[in-house]
Order: sequence, then structure tokens, then C-alpha cells
Amino acid sequence: MNQPTGNNIPFSRENAKKCICWKCPVQKDSQCIKSNEEKMGDVLTTRFFEPQIVPGLYCSSGTASCQDIDTNRSCICGSCDVYNYFQLSKNEIKDHYCKKGSARLA
Ligand code: SF4
Ligand code: SF4
Repeated sequence: MNQPTGNNIPFSRENAKKCICWKCPVQKDSQCIKSNEEKMGDVLTTRFFEPQIVPGLYCSSGTASCQDIDTNRSCICGSCDVYNYFQLSKNEIKDHYCKKGSARLA
């Protein structure tokens, strides 16, 4: 796991691979997310490793670029290894990074 850069969780392929946003109900019915997933392909090899395309790691990159997600549904970040590693349960923002923006580390 990479150490944090400045106040942000690193936007790294390693962290993106651990992210579980892809199975979150918030994103489940989003056509925008689906097309980004198709465009991106494998997170470890994709040419499109950019916050606008990667459908997750919002605790690092901030709010989702896709507008058709349903942020009234439950966030599952609490079950994620990145969340636990960076102790985000103690962070000012504890959930729904896709809506509320990135976590700021102390
Ligand atoms: S804490 Fe949430 S946004 Fe961050 S990597 Fe895990 S599932 Fe993705
Ligand atoms: S940040 Fe939380 S609510 Fe948003 S997609 Fe990821 S797991 Fe779901």
C-alpha cells in the first residue's frame, strides 16, 4: 500500500484495485459508470487511469464525474481495505466520497 501523498490518499492502481465502489448500489444502475468501466478495462493495465474514467477511488479523487449515480443509496466503503488501512472511520468524511468529495488525511 502506498503511503499518502500530502493530505490525499494516493490515486494509485494498487489502491484502485482494492476499491469496492464497483459493487456499490450507488453506482449499480448508472449508464455512465458502465461505459467508463468498459472503456477502462483492467485497472492494472488500462491507458485510461484517470479520475474522470476510473469508477471508484473517490476517497482519493473526490466527487464522481458521472451524474447519474444514486447517492441516496448506502455506501459500502466501510468494507474496503483502503478504508481500513487509512482509518477512514476516523476521518471527517466517513462515507459517500463520490458525493461529498475526497478524504483529507491529517
Ligand atoms: S474507501 Fe470507498 S472510495 Fe475509497 S477505495 Fe474504498 S470503496 Fe473506494
Ligand atoms: S464512495 Fe461509497 S457510496 Fe460512493 S460509490 Fe464508493 S462505496 Fe459507493
